Amino acid sequence: MTHFKIQSILKNCPHPLIDHLISLKEVFWLNQHLEKYEIGMKKTPFTIQDVQDAEARLGRFAAYIAKAFPETSADNGIIESPLTKISQMKQKIQLNSSQPLLGQWLLKCDSHLPISGSIKARGGIYEVLKHAEELAIGNQMLSLDDDYSIIASEKFREFFSQYTIAVGSTGNLGLSIGIISAKLGFNVTVHMSTDAKQWKKDLLRSKNVTVVEYTSDYSKAVAEGRRQAASDPDCYFIDDENSPDLFLGYAVAALRLQKQLNDQNIQVDENHPLFVYLPCGVGGGPGGVAFGLKLFFRDYVHCFFAEPVHSPCMLLGMMTGLHDQISVYDFGIDNITEADGLAVGRPSGFIGKLIEPFLSGIYTVSDKQLFIMLKNLADTENLHLEPSALAGMSGPVKLMEEGNKYLLNHQLAKKMKNSTHIIWATGGSMVPQEVLAQYYKKGKSLMH
Ligand SMILES: *Cc1c(COP(=O)(O)O)cnc(C)c1O
Repeated sequence: MTHFKIQSILKNCPHPLIDHLISLKEVFWLNQHLEKYEIGMKKTPFTIQDVQDAEARLGRFAAYIAKAFPETSADNGIIESPLTKISQMKQKIQLNSSQPLLGQWLLKCDSHLPISGSIKARGGIYEVLKHAEELAIGNQMLSLDDDYSIIASEKFREFFSQYTIAVGSTGNLGLSIGIISAKLGFNVTVHMSTDAKQWKKDLLRSKNVTVVEYTSDYSKAVAEGRRQAASDPDCYFIDDENSPDLFLGYAVAALRLQKQLNDQNIQVDENHPLFVYLPCGVGGGPGGVAFGLKLFFRDYVHCFFAEPVHSPCMLLGMMTGLHDQISVYDFGIDNITEADGLAVGRPSGFIGKLIEPFLSGIYTVSDKQLFIMLKNLADTENLHLEPSALAGMSGPVKLMEEGNKYLLNHQLAKKMKNSTHIIWATGGSMVPQEVLAQYYKKGKSLMH
């Protein structure tokens, strides 16, 4: 992007925030384009039916999943994560906050989703299953009312082995797509960006997944994967930047969450607001979940995204309105962060535009804070996450300390004592012990 264009962008945006972003300070931004639910829905191509369709498809595949991944059999092949109270962690954080942290805090433990241990076990696995279903039905191998456990057979593995699946990833999407595709019998290639952790590459190779390594960032790995896949008619490319299927797979989380809240007798209504804090990379995961939540909780849910100070791509895309036409590099920001799941320099334009009427705001977090919170969560709740997954944790504090305007505008100030805050923990349970120990040690060394 030219110097001239940056200048004109800066003219149209609140300067202090851009200055803070460029100097890598943490910021809290409110989205001026947030609309009432009914108005927002008029601008979106998706409906509640699309999400229910996705849920029904996952239901059809449950018998297969239970058989192919025995760790899911207790939940009958439904890939879901716990919703856990974290009152000890809240107390710990309260000690360092200038404001009373009103309301109840819960952790949505996608870090502990079966099969691939991250939020990508939602969208990623869903899109592969949808593709597999289309191929199998299209070739008269399967019909909608079959018992899908028949897919766990040599006959199906042989059938799928005629096809290839490819994806570009910073790590976790590659893990999800790689593991499920290889299990079904597909050939699968994962194009990994330079941030991808070694253990993720090793794990995939151990499952016969082809891993192609790049010395460039996520956007390049995706572009290269897309280019190579385009030349092979039997190759299906999972496009993390533009995929409606990934999006709908993520959105199913909301339907499940609604049930979990019900089971725990947690109310969400006009007087009991729900706040949700979602770590954001390219945007698909948090965007899909946030959209799903809006479908079910409408104006009673308030969704915030969280990004590393070194990779505030969605924030820059949304605040300038330029979406994928702009990257963090255009502002001299380096996109170097230990939060590998969030190391994305250019946001998805598809998601940015879609989520614009529904998103309350975005804030940024330093890597140092991520590590400190990682250590504190391990100490207080005995929960071990990867750095990316902690980005949601500072959301409730930022809201109370910097979000006064939002609370007043939405008549929320008096309702905060009845509020529920869900921090979306997006990954961690597959991280090897020794890597977790290093993270913990780093968090400890950063405290004083
Ligand atoms: C991928 C990922 C995210 C963000 O999802 P996007 O779809 O890239 O926005 C957050 N946390 C973790 C651990 C991830 O792997």
